[in-house]
Amino acid sequence: MTGRPILFEWTMAPGTGKPIELRAGQVLRIAQVEGGQCVDFNCFNLHDYREFMHCGRTRTVHGFNPSRGTFLWSAPPRERAMLYILADTYGRNDVLFPRCSAYLYESAYGFAAHTNCHDIQAEAQREYGLTPDDVHDSFNFFMCTEIGADGRATITRQTSRPGDHIDLLALIDVLAVPNVCGADVMRTSNFALKPIRLEVFAATPDELAAPPPVPALRSQRTPADFRNPTIKADRALRRDPAYRAEFVNAPIVETEVAVELTAEERALLREVAPDIYGDDEAAALRDVLFSWWEARFLQAASGAPAIAAK
Ligand SMILES: [Zn+2]
Repeated sequence: MTGRPILFEWTMAPGTGKPIELRAGQVLRIAQVEGGQCVDFNCFNLHDYREFMHCGRTRTVHGFNPSRGTFLWSAPPRERAMLYILADTYGRNDVLFPRCSAYLYESAYGFAAHTNCHDIQAEAQREYGLTPDDVHDSFNFFMCTEIGADGRATITRQTSRPGDHIDLLALIDVLAVPNVCGADVMRTSNFALKPIRLEVFAATPDELAAPPPVPALRSQRTPADFRNPTIKADRALRRDPAYRAEFVNAPIVETEVAVELTAEERALLREVAPDIYGDDEAAALRDVLFSWWEARFLQAASGAPAIAAK
């Protein structure tokens, strides 16, 4: 209920998904109807399906349970912010678990046929000419997960209520594909499948201004930059006899750079550097400098303000 004109609305029945053309500046609301339902999600550049969402980057810069104020990124070498989470009234999402699949239910439960996110996604994407191999890693909305002391991720029950919703702002034109997760034999959706409400509306000026700026860099490449921009149309892999390797920056050239340290700096280095380097001061200095930069990188790369230099 935004009071704004609804451009598109749909209720996904259990066992289904829905591809939605979402233009830059539009908002997709994914809302609970009865509560307690996980929603799996795929996303493609509407004008080039080979650019698609990459949970790996999202997980690296925003953590395992991204929520309001974070981006959904595309895979390298595109690596662009595709969507921004404007609102998230429940605040529990997951980028650790893969989509559930037919094999999972057959191998773990013995079910020869069972609703599963992979096959639901594939059928929804078929409306746009994609194949089951085009389904990619899933962003899992309203999915409650945590990492145990043993390092393994587990699914916990969820308590989302009717009306709880996520608002996704499209930063580029995308094909957004949510589906009702097919898992009714796990805690994912509290052992029952429920419908999910979808609405599309235009973002307000305030919402359009909400995402923090993200760096636009030369390393974000498009097919115009590819040595091979042609999508392979057949399935078998065959060696190209004309291929000549052109790896970037290879062969690698190393140059020694002299760094003078004062006695005070040398003492400080001994104090802060890990002791794994022994007397190798160059290695210790490299470690300390890169550790400092790494902390700054994760902030800057996520669109968050960089931490102040000490
Ligand atoms: Zn699922």
